Amino acid sequence: MAEVEFTEASFSQSVNYMVDRALAVMDIAPDVAEAIKSCNAVIQVKFPVKVRGKIEIICGWRAVHSNHRLPAKGGIRYAPIVDQDEIEALAALMTYKCAIVDVPFGGSKGGVMIDPNNYSRDELELITRRFTLELVRKGFLSPSTNVPAPDMGTGQREMAWMADTYKHLNPDDINYIACVTGKPVAHGGIEGRTEATGRGLQYALQEFFRHEDAVKEAGLEGGLGGKRVVLQGFGNVGYHVSKFLFQEDGCKIIAITDSKGILINEDGLAIEEAYCYKVENKTLDGFPGGRYKKGNTTRVLEMECDILIPAAVEGQISIENVDRIKAKIIIEAANGPITFAADGVLNKRGVTIIPDAYANAGGVIVSYFEWIRNLSHIRFGRMQRRYDELRGQNQLEALENVTGKKVPDSFKDRLNSGASELDLVRSALDDSMRQAFQEIRETRTDNKDITDYRTAAYVNAIRKISRTYLDIGVY
Ligand code: GLU
Repeated sequence: MAEVEFTEASFSQSVNYMVDRALAVMDIAPDVAEAIKSCNAVIQVKFPVKVRGKIEIICGWRAVHSNHRLPAKGGIRYAPIVDQDEIEALAALMTYKCAIVDVPFGGSKGGVMIDPNNYSRDELELITRRFTLELVRKGFLSPSTNVPAPDMGTGQREMAWMADTYKHLNPDDINYIACVTGKPVAHGGIEGRTEATGRGLQYALQEFFRHEDAVKEAGLEGGLGGKRVVLQGFGNVGYHVSKFLFQEDGCKIIAITDSKGILINEDGLAIEEAYCYKVENKTLDGFPGGRYKKGNTTRVLEMECDILIPAAVEGQISIENVDRIKAKIIIEAANGPITFAADGVLNKRGVTIIPDAYANAGGVIVSYFEWIRNLSHIRFGRMQRRYDELRGQNQLEALENVTGKKVPDSFKDRLNSGASELDLVRSALDDSMRQAFQEIRETRTDNKDITDYRTAAYVNAIRKISRTYLDIGVY
């Protein structure tokens, strides 16, 4: 371990080193450890698509890191820079992520090497449908074996195209709609999926701040309210987490970034307004509620703040800039934003890191709920919502009769309403995030060799995954 500690590694090596650090404090047989770490399968496809009268060869990957639970799960990203190493690393992270938050899936990930901004809607549909065809034909997409979801550069629209393509190829699969998650609600999606990763990050921070000693250890005090937050990346995840933290927890978001610069306001940015401005103008430059600095957006990571949220891409905090990082807490919204080498330095300095494989699991948790909803062919809450409502009314009536007093209207509304699908999704997501954090904390407290949350999270993941190998064996 010592010789790799302060040199940079590839993304997949970086993930493996982090896993090795966890294995070093565990009693796992080396062959089982190797079985857990190795990437099960990966395909590369190259397919021709006719774009504006010319044939273009599009390159894509899908990696299945682990099949110990089925289906394997993980997003598909569209980005100008993707390669096999990155997809394998991201697939591995999915395996550990699912185990940490008790989502019974294996880990997978996919990528297509395109800049989605360079293609029209119709062209993207063509590329998506053709990529789906490749995945289905090669056994890398089905409701029971491998279920993609949105990731960078993809969203509900792409998922709807994928589900439709799968359906045409498998007209007699009654569960066809469960072949991808993150679909539009009108086409088999679930309420709350779009903002799920952002919500999960918010719930992770809320849970962290419930533990006074953890907050103190991070060099902070009090609750989330008033904490100064810096955010790198203002895509789906960055936008939602900053919006929730600002609107619901009273955090001050003092800096956000777009692809070309940093928007700063030391008194706190109005997130919804900034987002609307960005949607309209395609940039944050010129937003009246802050100061825009054009140039290198990684500089935002070096700002003085309480909570730093890297929500862009991997490898942003590396050996190159780690010494200039001043945040007290870093919560990883992106996958792999801190390299293994930088992680080691931050741990030595005692910076609290809430790791990606736990912190950004909200997306796959709600994907799990969507998949279950699809397999059961019924929306959550449909059977019991009105029944619960009626029971609440009866209880209120009984209470008023027995006491002879009127229950105030503000209470009434809360007591006699049944849960909507969104209510159920939110509370189940909150529960998953709380439970996983408590497990991570327990492992960290119980084992004096573990000082950081990441290692504790990986220990939990490996413990759960290894149980499958030990109990069932290999086939
Ligand atoms: N792409 C998301 C992630 O990295 C979600 C994956 C999923 O929902 O399957 O966690």
